[in-house]
Amino acid sequence: MLRAKLTTATLAFALIFLSISINAQTAAQPAPPKAPETPIEKIRDEGMNRSQVMQTLSYLTDVIGPRLTASPNLKRANNWTRDKLKEWGLENSHLEAWGPFGRGWTLQNFSAEIIAPQAIPLIAYPKAWSLSTNGLLTSDVIFVDAKEEKDLEKFKGNLKGKIVLSAPIKEIKAHFEAPGRRMTEKDLLALADAADPTKSRGGGPEAMLSSPRMAEFIKAAILDAKKMKFFIDEGAAAILAPSRSGDGGTIFLENAAIPQDLQGKPMMEAVMSLFMGKVNPWDKDAPANVPQITVANEHYNRLIRMIQAGEKLQARINLGVKFHDDDLMAYNTIAEIPGSDKKDEIVMVGAHMDSWHSGTGATDNGAGTAVAMEAMRILKALNLQPRRTIRIGLWSGEEQGIYGSRAYVKSHFGARADDGTPQAEMAAMMGGGAGAKIVTKPEFDKFSAYFNLDNGTGKIRGVYLQGNEAVRPIFREWLAPFRDLGATTLSISNTGGTDHLSFDGIGLPGFQFIQDEIEYNERTHHSNMDVFDRIQGDDMKQAATIMAAFLYNAAMMEDKLPRKPVKTN
Ligand SMILES: [Zn+2]
Repeated sequence: MLRAKLTTATLAFALIFLSISINAQTAAQPAPPKAPETPIEKIRDEGMNRSQVMQTLSYLTDVIGPRLTASPNLKRANNWTRDKLKEWGLENSHLEAWGPFGRGWTLQNFSAEIIAPQAIPLIAYPKAWSLSTNGLLTSDVIFVDAKEEKDLEKFKGNLKGKIVLSAPIKEIKAHFEAPGRRMTEKDLLALADAADPTKSRGGGPEAMLSSPRMAEFIKAAILDAKKMKFFIDEGAAAILAPSRSGDGGTIFLENAAIPQDLQGKPMMEAVMSLFMGKVNPWDKDAPANVPQITVANEHYNRLIRMIQAGEKLQARINLGVKFHDDDLMAYNTIAEIPGSDKKDEIVMVGAHMDSWHSGTGATDNGAGTAVAMEAMRILKALNLQPRRTIRIGLWSGEEQGIYGSRAYVKSHFGARADDGTPQAEMAAMMGGGAGAKIVTKPEFDKFSAYFNLDNGTGKIRGVYLQGNEAVRPIFREWLAPFRDLGATTLSISNTGGTDHLSFDGIGLPGFQFIQDEIEYNERTHHSNMDVFDRIQGDDMKQAATIMAAFLYNAAMMEDKLPRKPVKTN
């Protein structure tokens, strides 16, 4: 009834609206839009009115699919992007190997269900580099309720061939806020007013490592590592765990765990083992793990409650995987538009093309990849001749430790003298800190700027200056034509977690744009729902347009972008 009433009302409104708009059209003919004249107007016209960014993204995500580092899918994406950029007219389009990284991994088949005492199909996904079940696995399900190490004792001898629920119930709360959000004026003002990170005292890796939260985190990680070692030693057949967050069928997951001995290690070493993995499941000679599967939290919790109520559960799991160890190298796709009078100087754009495996890596980071490619397509389609060479880098191994872009920067521009030590690794991952002196290559002095996009599908709202105050007036001018598209904010603050750190870490101007995060943390970031349909097409067009304008401006200015003073120990 309500629906019928609404329909009638809606129809009446539509008729009124239609008559108004017809009247308006006959009354005043709008002036035809002015043809774009300046290069920036042309970039805007091409980017907003003839965009190909969504076609590019659809091929990367829907057709090629998830792009785990060193997997055949990522190799296919490397080849496809190299060929596409060449087809658009870019030059020197090629792949650059780095590594060795390790083994690739492909999911071949997967199903997981409870078959007794009643059928329960599970929303679940195996972790990357998990082992296979070697065919159909049918077994009892056991909940290992261990809050500390000694709780494991009572399960000794009982887990062989069993399917283990490895963690307690995950609390789930209702959502009272929409997952999709744009930055508010207040959010943007806070970013604009942020303190200069180069002047702040404290902070940095040391402060982070000594925080109580970190201590808690390490303690939990040590217990998790002990539990995993116990499960493997006891011969468990598969490990089921809840998703670290998420609900409603969205699960978040990365790679399978390899148990590591963290007990008694200094904090720095323990953190290093956790984040950078001294032993990784992709290593060629990695110790055997066990099939590791993440289950949607509502489904996972029910299984525990059934077991606690005395039910005997049986599950059937079929997990087939393939490891690829014929080529342990990984690849970045590189291509360029050669400059004119300053062609030996370089402006770069990039994004990481590798993704996690349970979705199709649409927002992390197919979006950034498609935007960076589209920015290059726009410049080439308009035949705007840049003075400096504009180069694109589509990175791999970002998800495992920002490896691809770091390898590229090291081989082309330079590295810290202590490169490869835990301290240098940590600094490279976190950004912003001091470090050992920088050993440079000749291209270091020819480098102007790097622009990165890796915060999801959301449009550009401004730029993080990474403590480089000298670029503020320059970027202010470059953003001015895009105020009406919502890009206004310059923040002196650092942002981390992605490939601009590889440049910033050795004192080269490297920037990540401020973006609306839309549903990034709630829905897509490393989840099974990181797929094409979560991408906002209008945001992507806006981002590619602004990216193209920044590249063009950086390539045309008289001087290279100013650098901030480099901190060395
Ligand atoms: Zn990611």
